[in-house]
Amino acid sequence: MLSGLVRDLFERWRAPGSQHAGGSSDSARYEILLDEVEPLERWTLCTVCLNVDRTLAVVRRRWRCSDCGVDTSNDTQQPLKAYLIATPAETIEKNLREWNNNVKGARVAYKMLRAARYKCLLVLQKRVQDQG
Ligand SMILES: [Zn+2]
Repeated sequence: MLSGLVRDLFERWRAPGSQHAGGSSDSARYEILLDEVEPLERWTLCTVCLNVDRTLAVVRRRWRCSDCGVDTSNDTQQPLKAYLIATPAETIEKNLREWNNNVKGARVAYKMLRAARYKCLLVLQKRVQDQG
């Protein structure tokens, strides 16, 4: 199901001693979605850093992005499925290109992490669009 590139990135996230900004559970959360273990409806997306989280924390208004630290008052948290329906693949691909081209000073591991999140979103986006 996963493209080779995404799988390769996951492997690197899991590698012992590898550093990335998203915490140890980051790749696991995206894997749950890519493997369709849980429905997308239960998840939300941080549109600042593309971190995914379960909706419950947002409903309780106690959500704070574990990665970039924004909270619900910034209105940056969107239901994941609605985001994927509303956002064309071209937009996500454009954002990915801009991230790769413009990011300066970020650690390589974080750059890769964000790039992988974009790629995961593209996989999920295609799936949602195919389901109509
Ligand atoms: Zn965030």
